[in-house]
Amino acid sequence: MSASLLAAKHVRAVPGLKAKGGNIIAGGTLAIAERNCGAATGSPLIIVDGLGLDRIEVKAKKVTLGALVTMAGIARERRLGFLHPVANSIGGPAVRAMATVGGNLFAPSPYGDVAVALLALDAEVAFHDGKALRKLPLEVFLKSRKKLRSAFVTGVSFALPQARDFRYIKVVRRKPVSASVITIAALLPRRAGKIAGARLALGAMAPHAIRARKTESALEGRALDRKAIDQAVEVVTEATAPADDVYATAWYRREIAPVHLKRLLGAAP
Ligand SMILES: Cc1cc2nc3c(=O)[nH]c(=O)nc-3n(C[C@H](O)[C@H](O)[C@H](O)COP(=O)(O)OP(=O)(O)OC[C@H]3O[C@@H](n4cnc5c(N)ncnc54)[C@H](O)[C@@H]3O)c2cc1C
Repeated sequence: MSASLLAAKHVRAVPGLKAKGGNIIAGGTLAIAERNCGAATGSPLIIVDGLGLDRIEVKAKKVTLGALVTMAGIARERRLGFLHPVANSIGGPAVRAMATVGGNLFAPSPYGDVAVALLALDAEVAFHDGKALRKLPLEVFLKSRKKLRSAFVTGVSFALPQARDFRYIKVVRRKPVSASVITIAALLPRRAGKIAGARLALGAMAPHAIRARKTESALEGRALDRKAIDQAVEVVTEATAPADDVYATAWYRREIAPVHLKRLLGAAP
């Protein structure tokens, strides 16, 4: 099947090309299938290489990942060691060489593992909506991404955490990598032995990555002891809406969420 290609010269030009029916191709690991047989069948592909969005910046403890940073790029960046398990949990080496951070924010569940990690990191998304560059918390962006049809994500940023405060687990049916049965990312900073600023995100438990607010509340201000963990685990499936798919049923996902959360929270930091 032939494809027409539209090369964007500026970030601000991309939303207009999208509004005219084009579909952005970043790494193309999903966009090509969408174009050939999915939601964007036959649409022109918008090429966004060459806009300088493939850079990783770590400055004054703030991390900015350009939208075109790949999983392999994250895995090569030694300052982002805590994110290596996240990047390496996505597809095989060929997928990781192409799959981008920006594309991951649009990947349908059970994909979107980077989005889960970024949600736990309280990341902010920068995007151009055709009028101006805007920023939104990732949580808000994920909820409204369908409405933001012509948005072009340029990057994400977040505060560099202490590596020991970040935890990540992705449960798969086929080792070493496969799509998620459930993905959990947590940021558990501690002050005087008590959790201060708990953030916990879940993947494959809703149409997009979500925060587990009740679990966060159960952990906040507590020592990470057995009692706190048991109470946190009890509420982890509240406000979730997992799907049945080829990897697991919704029932199974709900059953195993507390088990894996308990392991994640109980692991030595
Ligand atoms: C074999 C295989 C295994 C996979 N395994 C995993 C996995 O384990 N975990 C996981 O999370 N994902 C997985 N994926 C899905 C996918 O590879 C990743 O989610 C990837 O990060 C998507 O990025 P991409 O650059 O390839 O996106 P693309 O395919 O280029 O784009 C995906 C969608 O997002 C839009 N888009 C892309 N970039 C932007 C942007 N900057 N602004 C606005 N819209 C944009 C595109 O128009 C398209 O609709 C897998 C895919 C394959 C084919």
